[in-house]
Amino acid sequence: MARRKKPTTRNIRCYLCGKRFTVSTKTMSTTCPACNKAIKVEDVIVKSYVPVIQLQTCGTIKITKRGRIAAKQIQSGDGIDCEGTIDGNIETEGTVRFGPNAVWKGRSLHSRALDIQDGATLIGEVIVPWSRSEDND
Ligand SMILES: [Zn+2]
Repeated sequence: MARRKKPTTRNIRCYLCGKRFTVSTKTMSTTCPACNKAIKVEDVIVKSYVPVIQLQTCGTIKITKRGRIAAKQIQSGDGIDCEGTIDGNIETEGTVRFGPNAVWKGRSLHSRALDIQDGATLIGEVIVPWSRSEDND
């Protein structure tokens, strides 16, 4: 059997309007062909305290042990991996994974799936499984 080639493109979904399209795996950010807004595609790693209004990417978000994100809204296309602290509402079409020392506090957490280790703290309303409506397709 032929060796599988590393994919050079990936399917993403605009977190602003829900449009699905394909980009190169090297793409860090792009313009959505449907809503013409600039969107972030790269994976985000939070290693320290990061206060922002919104953290949005079509990729994944990783919060390390010392990382802390404080945002009104956190949106990720491919899921969130949290070993640290998240303050804010979460919306992802992927899996949210909370490590044993992870803390999440927010109004709502929407995700496709959850993976919670013993010891993690979650305070807020959890809506799982969730997927964004396909109204825009
Ligand atoms: Zn869009």
